[in-house]
Amino acid sequence: MTENPLPVDLRSDTVTKPSAAMRKAMAEAEVGDDVYGEDPTVNRLERHLAEMLGAEAAVFCSSGTQSNLIGVLSHCQRGDEYVIGDSYHVLRHEAMGTAVFGSAAPFAIPVQPDGAVEAADVVAAIKADDQHFPRTRLLCLENTTDGRAVSLDRMKAPAEAARQAGLGVHLDGARIFNAATALGCDPRDIAAVADTVSVCLSKGLGAPVGSVLVGPADNVARARRLRKLAGGAMRQAGILAAAGLHALEHHVAGLADDHARAAQVARALIEHPAFDVREGTSHTNMVWLTCDPSSGAAFAKHMAGQGINVGRGGASMRLVLHRDVDDAALAAILSAIGSFPNPA
Ligand SMILES: *Cc1c(COP(=O)(O)O)cnc(C)c1O
Repeated sequence: MTENPLPVDLRSDTVTKPSAAMRKAMAEAEVGDDVYGEDPTVNRLERHLAEMLGAEAAVFCSSGTQSNLIGVLSHCQRGDEYVIGDSYHVLRHEAMGTAVFGSAAPFAIPVQPDGAVEAADVVAAIKADDQHFPRTRLLCLENTTDGRAVSLDRMKAPAEAARQAGLGVHLDGARIFNAATALGCDPRDIAAVADTVSVCLSKGLGAPVGSVLVGPADNVARARRLRKLAGGAMRQAGILAAAGLHALEHHVAGLADDHARAAQVARALIEHPAFDVREGTSHTNMVWLTCDPSSGAAFAKHMAGQGINVGRGGASMRLVLHRDVDDAALAAILSAIGSFPNPA
């Protein structure tokens, strides 16, 4: 394991570190045993986020993977199936926990260029009541997805198709506040499209740990039992919940700054002749760029030389802006992009 020695880290918004004010809130958190329901800070976080998203109930989780896992399994029994976009995180990046722990199988449908799935594809994926087929129980959506904020209309169409067929709807809203910021809507409007929503506190919001699942009280009660089953019930977790509360109270507004900085980085890259930055490639806090693999690797090396970590580099790269990249860091990034030599 290596420590990251580069002062500016654009690999992900998960790299954010707790601020002094957040650490103070953590140190001063009132705590109790959350498995007894007695941690006042966890209870406050759960109530607060449920309120922010217009949900009945919430349960604090150790990670987004856990929150999605228990969210999906609060809808699906063993042998059930859920319909999901083929690039979404629950399908691709969560070690297929829904199948491993819950024997719930995913059925993948295409994700469109705007990040949405089509209602017609959802309808076509839903199985008839027939002994040959699994029971289709759930549609799993994602917003933002690869940084793209999916519009409310484009979320509602597949969700309504799913509901008409009696399916539940789960939203992987890891970055739901980035989506609401980009769409200029209340996060409740996004959450209302789904039954259960998983929200990450440890991405752009800047908490060190934690996600929350919100939804109807009966789903959340089942999810709480599943969290215990998965070894995720914590005791004096108020120390961690305090960081999440601090993030929700103080860091949501700053997401707009991350988006604005991402747009500036994208502009600088678009103007640079070494890169083919696909049109519209800054989405919320993420910048996507494509180039030939050798110039991508050279770019990563050049940026590292200027103290900026963009990962290994390659044909397709993602740069992620977050609250630990301030205006001084942005200036360093823009200057480093400017000094990357043009191809011959
Ligand atoms: C980060 C992320 C998650 C959860 O990841 P954890 O690392 O388990 O917290 C889920 N969905 C999306 C889209 C994510 O970006």
